[in-house]
Amino acid sequence: MATKPKSHGIDAAFTRSVLKGSQIEPSYSGALSFMRRKYTKDLVGADIAITGVPFDLSVSNRPGTRFGPEAIRKASAQHAWGPVWPWRFDPFDTLAAIDYGDCVFDWGAPQDAPLAIERHISEVISTGTASLVLGGDHFITYPVLKAYAAKFGPIGLVQFDAHRDVEPDEGGRMDHGTMFNLAVREGIIDPQRTVQVGIRTCFDGEETYGMTIMYADAVHAAPAEEIAATILSTVGDGPTYLTFDIDCLDPSTAPGTGTPVPGGLTSYEALAIIRALKGLDPVGMDVVEVSPPFDHAEMTSNAAAMIAAELLCLKAWARGARAAS
Ligand code: MN
Ligand code: MN
Repeated sequence: MATKPKSHGIDAAFTRSVLKGSQIEPSYSGALSFMRRKYTKDLVGADIAITGVPFDLSVSNRPGTRFGPEAIRKASAQHAWGPVWPWRFDPFDTLAAIDYGDCVFDWGAPQDAPLAIERHISEVISTGTASLVLGGDHFITYPVLKAYAAKFGPIGLVQFDAHRDVEPDEGGRMDHGTMFNLAVREGIIDPQRTVQVGIRTCFDGEETYGMTIMYADAVHAAPAEEIAATILSTVGDGPTYLTFDIDCLDPSTAPGTGTPVPGGLTSYEALAIIRALKGLDPVGMDVVEVSPPFDHAEMTSNAAAMIAAELLCLKAWARGARAAS
């Protein structure tokens, strides 16, 4: 007699009554949310809120990341099946996670967007819920970090990226290539507790600010465990935010992004580093710069969804999740 896999169902995004656990739904069917989590604005009991920030007006080159959150949600349906390899547990057995929907702003008043994003995140984290933001271009991390810094003080930053995003800027602009310069000068992030991974660009006027920079060649040459050890020792025990700019990945892995740079990480390399970061419990996280109009076969949104899923595994691990023996 044929046996059915457990928990077949449909539309968990609006039919589920509990925040934890997973059910199997066909990836082509059912209401989409990030990994079929419940769509709700109710933060009560939520450990983490996944939320989209579809803003792409700060890019230097190709736009399109406003379509990132919906593409990552769609791609995530392919991974919302329960246990995640090689963690071998379902992060949602440990983390009560919701899809908080998207941040809204007036397209006719883009100058108001940063404050709208900061308030959106403040709203989430004021309750003790963490956020996992789906971008949007990388500038959005700046108002997100402002909300976190208001709560935690200057925070440590783990940045996966091809670019350092610290080009000179006097402020008052929206630019996805300069905001970590502003974040340092404004005391939002602690440069001594900041590590940038996968960097393979350089710009005039960039200063190190005391950040730890792991260039792509060094990342390719070292085992994931070694890179993770440097990350962990740099950020230490204080509050730490993790931001993943998808252009850290090589364009052969993630072509759908605004400023692609050859010579980057494979999805395997990036995931191996994330898996080796066990013990890190970021106060907030994001995956940004996914630009679906430049994607092919959902390669980029698929990679972003998997990275986001494994970042949740990392957080679940820090909260005690372990493989069933
Ligand atoms: Mn970036
Ligand atoms: Mn970048």
